[in-house]
Amino acid sequence: MIEFRRNHNLQPLNTLALPAKAEYYCRINHCEQLQLAVDFATERGLPITVLGGGSNVVFAGNIAGLVIHIGLDGIELHAQQDDQVQVDVAAGENWHQLVEHALEKGWYGLENLSLIPGLAGAAPIQNIGAYGVELKDIFHSLQAFDIASGKEVTLSARDCEFGYRDSIFKRQLKDQLIITRLRLNLSTRPNLRLDYPALRDAISALPESVALTPAVVAETVCRVRRSKLPQPSETPNAGSFFKNPVVSARKAEELRKLFPGIVCYPHGEQEQKLAAGWLVEQCGWRGKQVGNVGVHHKQALVLVNNGGTGEELLTLAEQISESVKNRFGVKLEIEPRVYR
Ligand code: FAD
Ligand code: NAP
Repeated sequence: MIEFRRNHNLQPLNTLALPAKAEYYCRINHCEQLQLAVDFATERGLPITVLGGGSNVVFAGNIAGLVIHIGLDGIELHAQQDDQVQVDVAAGENWHQLVEHALEKGWYGLENLSLIPGLAGAAPIQNIGAYGVELKDIFHSLQAFDIASGKEVTLSARDCEFGYRDSIFKRQLKDQLIITRLRLNLSTRPNLRLDYPALRDAISALPESVALTPAVVAETVCRVRRSKLPQPSETPNAGSFFKNPVVSARKAEELRKLFPGIVCYPHGEQEQKLAAGWLVEQCGWRGKQVGNVGVHHKQALVLVNNGGTGEELLTLAEQISESVKNRFGVKLEIEPRVYR
């Protein structure tokens, strides 16, 4: 059985708490229901929008067509050889609960990605990353439902063309597949990744008596994140609103001469990644409120909603982008998916 609802309220289903309704909505708990949902949309000529945890979307108004909300669950050990494990994760599993579950099982590799909101199925869309680790580092493959053919397809890491907060699902395969399952390569042998400065500093500050384990790394990541980032349940937000812009080494050098304090990191051999939060902060936006939306007081990269609309938020984002462009000549790109 699959229940299709009309004019379904999406406000509780997006972490920005933006007001929006789905023309039609259904929740999918079994892969077999996907074909039924797609048939429902095709018969009525409705566009399809896939929704996970709603933590990386901006709803600028109501969503026409059918919103398919992913509720697929299950985490299973697929294979084990020596200290390597392959773990299958259904797309509807909560990402952070997966990290916790993996730690309990002694499957390591996800620690740095603790506390990222949302569901597993969305993780490949922007190749989620934090504290020096990206999904691609532990990704084996995924299974997906091809909306046009109704067939199940398998994509390897190479097929997904992962990049910096990017993948093929934002480009050639945009809106074509519904991801149903991930297969991850984890290890029963801890391999701590502590090279990211904010994490390294927090770990160094721990008492010497604390043994360094994957669980301690995960706890530390959670503690640092909680101290810097607003919880969406208290302050509606979608995490970083802008991607860190990647510019040529030459452009970065020019900027460094003009703005000696600029924060940038090597990105491959020819490019540099600028900290978007620093650019936004320098333009005076941190902590600013504009009507019912604003910029978080601790983190200039996080836009917050205090009862406003998606359009208000996007207007603020445009103003921010314009000021960054005028001052630094750098174009900011919005990270979450905008639906307008
Ligand atoms: P949604 O917001 O529901 O969807 C995002 C996009 O993915 C949509 O286009 C949707 O159509 C598509 N999609 C979702 N599920 C599927 C599926 N099964 N098949 C096909 N398409 C699908 N991101 C990071 O990378 N690193 C961070 O550290 C990080 N921190 C965050 C902190 C906060 C406080 C918040 C609010 C967000 C943060 N994010 C971060 C962004 C966000 O959590 C991730 O991008 C997450 O993967 C989104 O998952 P979701 O299930 O909420 O996706
Ligand atoms: P931070 O530690 O204050 O650093 C600011 C920015 O500088 C980050 O965006 C990070 O890029 C970059 N950076 C710092 N040290 C780096 C290094 N050694 N090499 C390369 N890049 C470096 O960042 P923060 O805001 O507290 O976030 C901490 C981590 O959580 C970051 O990895 C960030 O991406 C992630 N996060 C992501 C979101 C989201 O919605 N996408 C939201 C919150 C936090 P990277 O972003 O490339 O790491």
